[in-house]
This record gives sequence, structure tokens and C-alpha cells, in this order.
Amino acid sequence: MSAPRTVVEVAVPRPLRDTFDYAVAADQPVPPIGARVYVPFGRSTALGIVTGHRTTSTHELKAISEVIDATPLLTPDLIELAQWLARYYHHPIGSVLSTMLPAKARRGAAAMVAEEAVWEATGEGCAEAALRRAPRQLETWRRLRELRSLPEAEARSAGLERHCLSALLAKGLAARRVVDPDYGYRTLGAVTPNAEQQAAIDAVAASLGGSATHLLDGVTGSGKTEVYLRVIAAALARGQQALVLVPEIALTPQTAARFRERFGAAATLHSLVSDAQRFDIWLKCASGSHKVLIGTRSAVFAPFQDLGVIVVDEEHDGSFKQTDGLRYSARDVAVKRAQGLGIPVLLGSATPSLESLRNVHRGRYGLMRLASRPGGASMPILRTLDIRGERLQQGFSAALLAAVERHLDAGGQVLVFINRRGYAPVLLCAACAWQARCPHCDVRLTLHVAPEALRCHQCGYRRPVPRQCPDCGSGEFVRLGVGTQRVAEALAEIRPDVPLYRIDSDTTRSMRRLESDLAAIRAGRPAILVGTQMLAKGHHLPNVTLVAVLDADAGFLSPDFRAAERTAQVITQVAGRAGRAERPGEVLIQTYDPANAHLAALIAAGYRGFAQSESRLRAEASMPPFAAMALVRADSLNETAAGDFLASAAPHLKGVGVEVLGPAPAPLARRADRYRYQLCVLAARRGDLHRALDRLEAAEPRTSGVRWAVDVDPLDAF
Ligand code: ADP
Ligand code: ZN
Ligand code: ZN
Repeated sequence: MSAPRTVVEVAVPRPLRDTFDYAVAADQPVPPIGARVYVPFGRSTALGIVTGHRTTSTHELKAISEVIDATPLLTPDLIELAQWLARYYHHPIGSVLSTMLPAKARRGAAAMVAEEAVWEATGEGCAEAALRRAPRQLETWRRLRELRSLPEAEARSAGLERHCLSALLAKGLAARRVVDPDYGYRTLGAVTPNAEQQAAIDAVAASLGGSATHLLDGVTGSGKTEVYLRVIAAALARGQQALVLVPEIALTPQTAARFRERFGAAATLHSLVSDAQRFDIWLKCASGSHKVLIGTRSAVFAPFQDLGVIVVDEEHDGSFKQTDGLRYSARDVAVKRAQGLGIPVLLGSATPSLESLRNVHRGRYGLMRLASRPGGASMPILRTLDIRGERLQQGFSAALLAAVERHLDAGGQVLVFINRRGYAPVLLCAACAWQARCPHCDVRLTLHVAPEALRCHQCGYRRPVPRQCPDCGSGEFVRLGVGTQRVAEALAEIRPDVPLYRIDSDTTRSMRRLESDLAAIRAGRPAILVGTQMLAKGHHLPNVTLVAVLDADAGFLSPDFRAAERTAQVITQVAGRAGRAERPGEVLIQTYDPANAHLAALIAAGYRGFAQSESRLRAEASMPPFAAMALVRADSLNETAAGDFLASAAPHLKGVGVEVLGPAPAPLARRADRYRYQLCVLAARRGDLHRALDRLEAAEPRTSGVRWAVDVDPLDAF
């Protein structure tokens, strides 16, 4: 019998539900909870996270191989959060932790904070002569002088090489200065809050230091950002930090600039941040040197020394939900994390999710409203355009085209919203009705022009446009329906005198392009904007006077139970771009179905009224948020394996208080060559749902050739 030793519980970032016990050798430091360690695992070594300590174990245990972190990399609140995530989303703790950690941390990189440094050119007057024989260094020196001050982290992307910079430093022709992020409140650009804003600021500020969830329901253009900024200022004044979550495409340099203008600095985390920078920002939040972090979904897992408040902007946005791996909702995780820390969380939206509205109704969230736009701008008025029996011209009715012309001639900007990129969604043979379909997915291929190709929006497959029909050999094709490219082409022909900006994920691969387009649009001259929902998100476009929604019907008619909510949200958001300045805004919505109950409710009573009637429908149907839902998703290369697997899994789920629907083919029944099926699990009480999923896990269903996953609170169901 060996003497009592310290035993640590370690989670290994692999898809494993259990943690493993390891011994700490006598000559090893005891790693704290939240530290990374290397442990012998199977035949190799794995990186793991310490999740617990024990003093004794009767087992003979292997010893950990190496302690990476002397201080915890994950704070205790994050370890607790990981354990909650594993339970709530029914996901292996090891995978949860690997989702939370930046990639570089997962690879075992030392937790060393890089100094924040800037490079500057020196030696004006003598550098040119001194560097005559070193052309690359001379070029580096000239670029550096041009840029005045270059953050070291950006040297690579600016095309400056480290060894050239070092050579210049050695010759006294460049200086490297270490800087500290400079957080300090600045009043520049601050507006005086109106009474509604002040009430909201006061309510959140009063809750600092305690748990509270606030929903800020503020119409588009009502000044929610000023509320966020003041609340964050109040947290910083207490010496605390702030985390702001925003939807992916809303995190433009413009967004970050608004925070930097007020606080001097603000760190940003989004998909374009490199692994190295991500880890660095992460560590600086943990050490307290970054006070404000603005980030997309995964920033909800960043560690902080003393977090004071979390803000979730556009809380209704679907991009907060991760759709693979750990299928978490960053909004819901933010609420949970804030509760764990005992701090307030502020959810803001002009179109709150039915989930959040229900939580207000149940008294769990406090509600604050901003009902008007400050500075006297009026809310736009929505009208439908009945297009039954009309012959549309490239998607436009005659009345809509006339309105476009009228607004442009009056010096306004026109925004045309169509939630479909490409030229036309269907390419059809005129002789035999053959359609171009993806060979790997259950969808039609979208026709794109410039460059011309047929593309699958699901799997990325592309092929040239056929000259002849593969079925009948005819050479005549019909391009059915319209996408952003076709709308842009048509409008450019009608108004060649007006600059046109197309904004969709094809044109905005680079943030720089989106920024320069938005800057040109904000300059205010007449312009046409054609875009997808990318245009609906957060951008302030004060000179747009007409918003045209080309097709509202597809969204409202889709079978997904959340489709109406999503469509009402996007229409309200895109409509909210109009009339933000002195000029009132007009919103015209083309529809074949003006009597559609959803659309009628939205027009008559706004989003608020829509949300009420839609909530009633959900309650009657016992659907979320009036029931807890999970999907068990499965897919396989074999046509039947996934469905068979779910059929054998379903009996384990059945039990008191749960309803199991399916297995049924997923809405997209085949994607990237895999056949997809799902089981839908519904329960009036969330506890029953979790027990059902626990039963399924405990049964360890056999899976040959089938991938399966649990999706709790799914966004796309059917
Ligand atoms: P939201 O995010 O709610 O749609 P924003 O925060 O973008 O709205 O604010 C819209 C505009 O109103 C911005 O230009 C902002 O500077 C301005 N604004 C906000 N609050 C006030 C105020 N109290 N007085 C004057 N202008 C304001
Ligand atoms: Zn044909
Ligand atoms: Zn495809």
C-alpha cells in the first residue's frame, strides 16, 4: 500500500465523457485546477486540463508527465462553466474544454504574454545614405516612416520582415517602443443620453456587483450602443472588465472604433484574428491588462481577472449558435456565465428572440425599452406591395421600380434586400425541365456570373454552366428566380448614373472592401445598395430613404418553426436602416400573399405585435420557448445507416414527459454526400429532456459508419 499522494483529475481534449485520475510525483509541483498538464494517455502523451484535486486514491495511478502551467490557464468560473456545458449540451467534457481553449493553448504553447510594442523609423536624414547597400532594409525603413508607428503584431501583415526590422534597430535607424493598452474614459463622441437611455443605464449600473439579466428592447436606431458604452464605463470605474459579444459580420473595424474612441483601447476577437494573437488577447484579458473585449461567439469563453458585465448585442442573432461540435448558444452561455460570476448581463436587440421575451414574461429577465429614436428621426413605415398577377421585371414590380426612381431623384439612397446571393437560384432546361443539381447534396445549384459557374451553397461544389442539356441536348435554358447579382445587374442598367454597391458574402470576403463600401455609402450621395442580410446587421446608414424587400414570402412559408420569427426579424432590421437622419424612411415589401397572418401582424403591429401573436402560436403548438427541444442528428454515407441508427436510439429516449418525433430525413436530406436524419425530442419540462438524453448516452448506442450528435435548443429544426 503506497502512501497517500495528491491525485489530480484531468480532462483530455478528446471526445471522452470521463475525466482521468493521475498521481503527482513527489518531486512535481501540484498543478492547480485549470492548469494544463501533459499526461501519459494510451500509448502516447496528451495535453489535459486539471479539473479537480483529491488527496488519496487506492488505485495505482500513472503520474502526470509534465506541468505546463504553474498558474491556472482556465479560471475556476470557466472550469465550472465547462462542467455545466458538458451536462447541458450533452457533450464530452474533453471536447468542451478543447472548444473553449484557443488553438495555440491546445498545442501546449507557454502562457507568455507578448509585449505590446510599436516600431518607428528614426535617423531621418542619414538613413537613405546608410542603407544604400541594403535595399530591403531601406525599403522597410521607408515603409516604416510612411506608417509612422507600426504595431509589432501587424508587421507581418504589413509585409515587413522581422530580420529587416532588427537590422534597422541595430543600426539605430528604427526604435521599438513597448506600449500598454491605454484604457481611460474619453467623452469625445459621447452623446447626452435621453430619458429612456438614462433609465436603462441606471438600471444596469445599479445591478453591477450582483446577478441580473436585462433585456434592452430598443427599436432600430434608438441608441442602444450608447447604453452599452455607459454601462461598460460604470464597470470600468469599479476597476472591472467588460465583455461585449456581437454577431460575426457586425464586428467591423467601425464597430471596434466606437469602443476605442470612448475607452482608448478595446481588444477584438473574431474569425480573422490569428491563432497567436487570439492566445495573446486571451492572456491579456486574464491578466487584466485588457479591460474591454469585443468578440464574436467564442469570446464568451475568454478568461478575465475581474469581469464586471457582459453585453450581448443583437441577442436574437443566429450566429451566436454554434452549429457543429459543441452546439452552444453564446447568448445562453453568457447568461449562465454571468450568473456564475454574480454579475449582470445585458441582452440588446430591436427584435428580441421569443426565448428572451418569454424569460421576461416569466420574471427571469428585466425589461428595458427604448421606444424612439433620439434626435427626432422617425421610425420608417412599412407597406406591402401586392404583386399578384404582376409581371415582375428581374424581380421588381412596376410600382417598386417607380419608387426606386423617385427616391434616387430626390437625392436619397435605396437599399434593395434579397436574401439570396448569386444570379439565379435555378437553371432549368427550356425543353425538358432538367435542373442543375448538386451531385453531393439535395439542393439545386445556384447560377453565378462573373465568373460564370454553377455553385452549391451547401458544400462549395462548382461546375461550368453546360452548353447543352445533359438530358435532352437542347441548348436553351431558363434562369429562374433572382439573386443579388441579377438584381444588381438590372438596377445598373436602369440607373447607370448612380453608383451601386452589392453587399453579400461573395463581395465582402475582405473586411476592407466592406469597410470602404460602407464609408462611401455613408458619404451620402445617391446610391443603390443591393444585399443579403449582411446589410441588416447593425450598420448605420443614415441616408437610406427607401428599403425594398423583394421577396418576403419564401421566408414566411418555409416549414421551419422558427422561419416566421427569423423573417420578421430580418425585415424589421433591414427596414430599420431607413430614415435614420432627417429624411423619413419608406419600406416597401413585395408579396404574393399580403393576407399572410405573420406578415399582416408585422405590418399592423410591428415586431412587438408580431412577437405576441407568434408566441401564442408557439404556446398552442407546445413548441420552444414553451417546450424544451433537442435534436439527435445523425448522418452516414450509406443511404439507410443513419436512419436505422436513430430508429434503434429512439426507444432509449422515450420516457415520462417526453415526446419523440422521427426518425425523419433532415430538412436538407443529403449534404456533402452524407445522408442526414434526425430525431426530435420535446419536453414540457427541461429536466425530462435532459433525463431522456442521459438515458441515450448511458445506452451507448452502437454506431457503425454513423456520425451522431445531440443538438440542445436547435435553431434549424424543420
Ligand atoms: P441602435 O444600435 O439602437 O440601432 P445606435 O446605437 O447605432 O442605434 O444609435 C443610432 C444613432 O443615434 C447613432 O448615430 C448615435 O450616435 C445616435 N444617438 C444615440 N443616442 C443619442 C442621443 N441620446 N442623442 C443624440 N443622438 C444619439
Ligand atoms: Zn433538357
Ligand atoms: Zn453540394
